[in-house]
Amino acid sequence: MASEETKPDSNDVLIEVKDLKKYFPIRRGVFSRVVGHVKAVDGISFKIRRGKTLGLVGESGCGKTTAGRTILRLLEPTEGDVLYEGKSILPLRGQALRAMRRNMQIIFQDPYGSLNPRMTIGSIVGEPIAIHHVPRAKREERVRELLEKVGLSRNHINRYPHEFSGGQRQRIGIARAIALNPSFIVCDEAVSALDVSIQAQIVNLLEELQEEFGLSYLFIAHDLSVVKHVSDEVVVMYLGKLVEHAPSDDLYTKPLHPYTQALLSAVPVPDPKSGRKRIVLEGDVPSPSSPPSGCPFHTRCPYPRLHPDAMERCKNEAPEVSSPTEGHSVVCHFYKIILENGGIRKVHSGAESLQP
Ligand code: SF4
Repeated sequence: MASEETKPDSNDVLIEVKDLKKYFPIRRGVFSRVVGHVKAVDGISFKIRRGKTLGLVGESGCGKTTAGRTILRLLEPTEGDVLYEGKSILPLRGQALRAMRRNMQIIFQDPYGSLNPRMTIGSIVGEPIAIHHVPRAKREERVRELLEKVGLSRNHINRYPHEFSGGQRQRIGIARAIALNPSFIVCDEAVSALDVSIQAQIVNLLEELQEEFGLSYLFIAHDLSVVKHVSDEVVVMYLGKLVEHAPSDDLYTKPLHPYTQALLSAVPVPDPKSGRKRIVLEGDVPSPSSPPSGCPFHTRCPYPRLHPDAMERCKNEAPEVSSPTEGHSVVCHFYKIILENGGIRKVHSGAESLQP
């Protein structure tokens, strides 16, 4: 979705995602005929600069985890392209793909489920090193170094995952992810399952590692307050599509898309007397197997509900990408009117005074 204006200097770009789609077939009947597709990721585009973090946010089921895995080719894309340092990774097979995987790693959400309980920490962290044929003699020392790097003891090497807390297990996951000196890591809800205080420690660790190794992150989360702290830029995803893309500060101070405004209204504020009200979106995210026509958000967006004329357009016409300021793009017919009238919260409460 990023417009021409949002493009960073191409020399800085590590990862480029171009119109990426991932559809899952729906099969029915004895012959497993394909009767439709779940459009989990439906044409997303963005760039991630070297040493920077792009936050990817949206509700559960919006396709962000599928997007992360498709970028890494843990899932094969249906269409589109993923470029690493300007070269497509989609034609890679066998040894060439394995070699590329050294550069692109993932940290999973569930530190409990992503570590094999029967393997020692040494084997878990050393596994990617072994797969890439690093000599055995070097492996153990490398694992001890990695454990130290992520804030664990070198002597934890022979312990098992159940002997560690949630935060420590996520540190083990991070050690495994950085074992091969990657330059890009997908952090898939990497702190979502942790207590708030532990979240802060893990976020700090990720930032330290980014600083030290020049890592680029795709930081996937549904919690906008966490994303704010770690991201240089943020993209907002709804029903497989990007609806807004902005530098982090812009997105939080001047969100343009009604969906982003609703998500931000749910972020806790330090002052409970600030009078800020949460915008409650009605209904669940529609099924990606039969997304709504026009703007996919029209079934839940507060604006067209209050303005029947607007509804006509939102329902029938897919909005184009607009870029009102450099680096900030949005996909909404009426973002200007909504903004001029004080944002979707005001629109919601003072509906009568508005003309679309
Ligand atoms: Fe809401 Fe219409 Fe904008 Fe979609 S195009 S976000 S339905 S106002």
